[in-house]
Amino acid sequence: MQQGKKSRGSVLDRLALVRARIDRAARDAGRDPRDVTLVCVSKTFAAQDIMPVIDEGECVFGENRVQEALEKWPPLKASHSGLELHLIGPLQSNKAHEAVSLFDVIETVDRDKIAKTLAGEIQKTARHPRLNVQVNTGAEPQKAGVLPQEADRFIESCRKDYGLEISGLMCIPPVDDQASPHFALLNRIAARNGIAVLSMGMSGDFELAIQLGATHVRVGSAIFGER
Ligand SMILES: *Cc1c(COP(=O)(O)O)cnc(C)c1O
Repeated sequence: MQQGKKSRGSVLDRLALVRARIDRAARDAGRDPRDVTLVCVSKTFAAQDIMPVIDEGECVFGENRVQEALEKWPPLKASHSGLELHLIGPLQSNKAHEAVSLFDVIETVDRDKIAKTLAGEIQKTARHPRLNVQVNTGAEPQKAGVLPQEADRFIESCRKDYGLEISGLMCIPPVDDQASPHFALLNRIAARNGIAVLSMGMSGDFELAIQLGATHVRVGSAIFGER
């Protein structure tokens, strides 16, 4: 019990600090803090770790695995109204049905096949998750996402060929790079494609991302602790 209380205390302390840092980064950039949404990345953490964060008023959460989210979130969603769940990890076509059923935002649209499959599932289920295209800004071979030079064509194809509404872009800069050129690149691709949502910035660099226009920051370990 003692242990439980202690970890609950620290998660709320960390959340308060992250909120304060977001607030300050937005103000320093001359932006309204309300224009930056905190996506609490709860991957690997159990429902009992997530609940205090929900009780504290957070309502936007990110998970990177469909299967893990399916095990954790239906009960949480049933007992808390107004939660918004983002898929931030790669999506396989054979999980598209479950993803469309569970997630409110799918941030990792990155190839024709998944765009086509999502379009079919959205029609079938009459659920309309918001969709972000993931851009592999560092062109890393092992990383998901469309290449920057293919982003415009892919976004247009999602819209025209599959009738998908693409409302945002998402990127994960290479771990060893300065993040700012990647955030700036994502911002430029969004601007020329009429896209308003920019999902960029994690525990290590969310302030920089806010400075460069992030509307959504995906923060995990700075809130929940090390995984
Ligand atoms: C895990 C993860 C995050 C959060 O990372 P932290 O460094 O723990 O804040 C953000 N985005 C994606 C895509 C992730 O997989």
